[in-house]
Amino acid sequence: MSTERTFIAVKPDGVQRGIFPEILRRFQNKGFKLVGIKLTLANESLLREHYADLQSKPFFPSLLSYMMSGPILATVWEGKDVVKQGRALLGATNPLQSAPGTIRGDFALDMGRNIIHGSDSVENAEKEINLWFKKEELVDYKPTMYGWI
Ligand code: ADP
Ligand code: MG
Repeated sequence: MSTERTFIAVKPDGVQRGIFPEILRRFQNKGFKLVGIKLTLANESLLREHYADLQSKPFFPSLLSYMMSGPILATVWEGKDVVKQGRALLGATNPLQSAPGTIRGDFALDMGRNIIHGSDSVENAEKEINLWFKKEELVDYKPTMYGWI
């Protein structure tokens, strides 16, 4: 794979509040290419692996129930510097510290309801993509005259 990829997931509140089309639009407008997308219910073992570094945190049980409260829109995006750029589109973990113009800054107030996940490093992106997607669910294609710069 020559181009960088990241894992972006719209959390259950972002799906249920209907914010996910706006999120897809922002990644697409920036010029990133969608290579994987599915609506999925996360089970506990997947989430324990996904958030393995947070297992000892006091908020971990509520994080699990939040993430299992409804469908998640799991996506994979490809493009230049997409991991870091994606985190910039998301804003800070705490929506109150996210600047207006970022996704969390524009649509959320609470850390426990911050509507979106994005990989924080190229290495974690690869792990997360492999955890949430099967290889055959990712689509390899060339940009067309319609876009996907
Ligand atoms: P990020 O999602 O920005 O990478 P972390 O990896 O630190 O942030 O945390 C994962 C998720 O756990 C956050 O997005 C948020 O939903 C939740 N979280 C983190 N810290 C807290 C906290 N102090 N209280 C409640 N939920 C939290
Ligand atoms: Mg994180």
